[in-house]
Amino acid sequence: MIEKMKFLSLSDMQLMHKTVLVRVDLNVPTKDGKVTDVTRIESLLPTLQYLLNQQAKIVLISHFGRPEADTNPLKWDQKYSLRFIVPTLEKILNHSVQFVPNCVGSEVGQAIKNAAFPSILLLENLRFHKGEEKNDPFFAKQLAEFTNVYVNDAFSCSHRAHASVVGVTEYLPAAAGLSLECELKHLESCLNKPNHPLVAIVGGSKISTKLELLTNLCQKVDTLIIGGAMANTLLAADGIDVGQSLYEPELFELARTILKTSKAEILLPEDVVVASELTETAKSEVVSIHAITGDKKAFDLGPKTISKIMHVLENAKTVVWNGPVGAFEFAPFAHGTMSIAKALAEFTQKGQCMSVAGGGDSVAALSIAGVKDKLSYVSTAGGAFLEWLEGKPLPGVEALARKYSRTSI
Ligand code: ADP
Ligand code: MG
Repeated sequence: MIEKMKFLSLSDMQLMHKTVLVRVDLNVPTKDGKVTDVTRIESLLPTLQYLLNQQAKIVLISHFGRPEADTNPLKWDQKYSLRFIVPTLEKILNHSVQFVPNCVGSEVGQAIKNAAFPSILLLENLRFHKGEEKNDPFFAKQLAEFTNVYVNDAFSCSHRAHASVVGVTEYLPAAAGLSLECELKHLESCLNKPNHPLVAIVGGSKISTKLELLTNLCQKVDTLIIGGAMANTLLAADGIDVGQSLYEPELFELARTILKTSKAEILLPEDVVVASELTETAKSEVVSIHAITGDKKAFDLGPKTISKIMHVLENAKTVVWNGPVGAFEFAPFAHGTMSIAKALAEFTQKGQCMSVAGGGDSVAALSIAGVKDKLSYVSTAGGAFLEWLEGKPLPGVEALARKYSRTSI
């Protein structure tokens, strides 16, 4: 858990007619060179509008994909160039954007010098340079060279100790952007100072990917609801025969430790939806967890378990959700996940609880249920959201806090 951290906000800075280096996350999903989801770009609007109102020169920096870094720009694979995103940016920001085909060096300095107040420039993919992922101080200094202030508005990149997130704060006054601040505020209000009862729902396919998450949550929340295939491992560790269901025997020991040491009440499935195959047309049936036989596999929660969960959610004041509780991509096994999504939306809308959800597949499930905008907050930060739930400090946020403790305003 990150402690409540102090850092500078945009409103603490003198930004009028300043040149501002803004770390954003333009690592957006694409298909055939087109952006398929603009959520991340839209989330930048408040910060960029604020800076335009201050007549600032805005210099956007981001990574995109995982290109091979090289000191020779001619060797950069153009498939990873950020140039393609300019038209989409211009449309959403309703402002022209000038692309600069490098992120450091004299070419960048010249472009910034020639730009008007206010203006928006987008620099080339940070990861074309080795120094970015290595958090190399020389590269960080080069990034800072032509600007007056640094702003981090990329919460989703803040779990990585890279030069554009951490190192650069050594060389410029540094502040949090509005979207980063908004994300942190929501996350803190649900785990750092929540209203109780506090309930967490964790699902997904493998315990091994979410061990730290479970370990952290079972010490923090009042009730921990576990679904999805990871529930199978806990049930099996407890001596229940889960048949051919997906589970991880090598994690039995750890699963038992979680069950034994949990401060939270752990709610596991009592009944499940089983089938022999994971398909749209699979013949499914509901069975008790003590009656999973033959080649059957558990792919979703059963009605008894769902109604027990509904009861817990009805009384909850704060709910955190990561991971679908069933193989929701297939209609016969979507009921558990859809029921939870709809119930959370209803209880949130009625003002009964505050709800926060995150995780790639969980957000997809919320979209399918049509309730993505009906929860208190949906985090699209992926890895950063998970690391935050695991209780790990986020290097990008820590860097802002370190800077703050050394700055007097
Ligand atoms: P998120 O992306 O939200 O963090 P995960 O990636 O951990 O979630 O898990 C999502 C995946 O877990 C989905 O593809 C879903 O089909 C799968 N899953 C959930 N329950 C089961 C189950 N009982 N058996 C097999 N797969 C499951
Ligand atoms: Mg996933």
